[in-house]
Amino acid sequence: MSDDLLKKVISHSKEYGFVFPSSEIYDGLSAAYDYGQLGAELKNNIKQYWWTAMVRMHENIVGIDASIFMHPNTWKASGHIDAFNDPLIDNKDSKKRYRADVLIEDHIAKIETKINKDVTKAAKRFGDSFDEQQFRETNGRIVDRQKQIDEINERFKSAMEAEDLAAVKTLIEDLGIADPDTGSRNWTDVRQFNLMFKTELGAVSGDSGVIYLRPETAQGIFVNYLNVQKSGRMKLPFGIAQIGKAFRNEIIARQFIFRMREFEQMEMQFFVKPGTQEKWYEYWKEARLNWHKALGFGDGLHRFHDHIKLAHYAEAATDIEFNFPMGFKELEGVHSRTDFDLKQHEEHSNKKLRYFDPETQESYVPFVVETSIGLDRMFLATLSAAYQEETLEDGSQRTVLRIPAPLAPVKAAILPLIKKDGLPEKAREILKMLQLEHNVQYDEKDAIGRRYRRQDAIGTPLCITVDHDTLTDHAVTIRDRDTMAQERIPIADLARCVQEKVGLAQLFNSAS
Ligand code: ATP
Repeated sequence: MSDDLLKKVISHSKEYGFVFPSSEIYDGLSAAYDYGQLGAELKNNIKQYWWTAMVRMHENIVGIDASIFMHPNTWKASGHIDAFNDPLIDNKDSKKRYRADVLIEDHIAKIETKINKDVTKAAKRFGDSFDEQQFRETNGRIVDRQKQIDEINERFKSAMEAEDLAAVKTLIEDLGIADPDTGSRNWTDVRQFNLMFKTELGAVSGDSGVIYLRPETAQGIFVNYLNVQKSGRMKLPFGIAQIGKAFRNEIIARQFIFRMREFEQMEMQFFVKPGTQEKWYEYWKEARLNWHKALGFGDGLHRFHDHIKLAHYAEAATDIEFNFPMGFKELEGVHSRTDFDLKQHEEHSNKKLRYFDPETQESYVPFVVETSIGLDRMFLATLSAAYQEETLEDGSQRTVLRIPAPLAPVKAAILPLIKKDGLPEKAREILKMLQLEHNVQYDEKDAIGRRYRRQDAIGTPLCITVDHDTLTDHAVTIRDRDTMAQERIPIADLARCVQEKVGLAQLFNSAS
């Protein structure tokens, strides 16, 4: 994958109505985007896949919808007011601003790339007898490079833990990290920058009226922990899921919808008995990876990346990274959050947030394992993995979005072969028959081949063609987007056939 692919996905998204720059008639607003008619459908389908997997398929997980505005003490308790910062650094020559941690991570990624190159070369040379682990552990150059990485990580971690920003700057200087755009090494000091957006509530001004746009949906779950547990008579372990907007004043927002200041999260907090959190952390890592893999984009697109520098609340944390056009980047986080959040809310609210365990007759604060995925990043992952340009057997070209059928914005296009002889009427009858269950489209304009291409370009899995024979044999031709194979099917079987091909059920054979 490449930057070139990202450019293609961006322009394709705009051309076909997936994603538009926000307020474009006013020249847009940086890093804000609007989802168009097809984008909104794709987004809804991703949400539905997630909600079904998390809430419907788990007896012990329920979903809520908390408000974006929350009592400001929420953010004091959660640590966001004090610690939701990114270390920021400016380049004095280029005047460009960077996240210090990202500069260091990118430096490490370069060393990793060198290691991987050596491994690939050796694998080729040794063939079947190649033992990768042994090679990594014994090859002098790789061992040295790995040592460098470990040392950088260690220095960065201890500098951040000691809140020693001068040491972070020294690390950047010692590593010789230069401005990626200009090569300049003329850096300012590192400063902390809080990522929360502030606004004012009602007519009250001054500090007492300050409230924040939530930077994560998780806190809306924590503050409702007891409401849900009591009203839903939930027993540990149980989960609360939520989909909603979150806001972060990112230092650099870029790479299309990958990093925005307003975005959407799908989060689930799983409350467990203290001492069992490790088991559940492993469970959710695997379950979430399976959810991604069930979409069938193929092997090698996902990997785990364990966190070195843990967030203020975490005991263990990993990212599920996806191979975006810009390389492997975080798509989802799985975090073992301990009892930090609930305990903090107990302290700041003076309310008990305990669970009475009927088995042990004890009250305690549960531990939490969180899964947190960015909906917009999932959208970008889906589009970039689905986008393909193909040369067909007859030499013609097509652009096709191989979006997994259950996520496709339009599930089927109903196409009368020509615009007369009663074919449009028959096609509309079929449209009516399918539209309650699926998002389907009617299209009678242009030659059938052009109509197929249009549907390929928006990822429609099925094209249903109504021809003259349909009027007598009561059958239609179904064309498959991926294989382009055509099949004659009786109209009486159509609803079942479409459901089988585009229904969510097919994703649940391997997903949990
Ligand atoms: P990053 O390191 O990329 O800033 P993060 O570790 O701060 O991400 P989390 O706080 O774990 O992210 O948030 C959970 C998920 O929310 C992320 O995995 C990502 O998919 C999504 N997310 C976070 N920030 C953004 C953003 N600015 N734009 C879009 N999605 C985001």
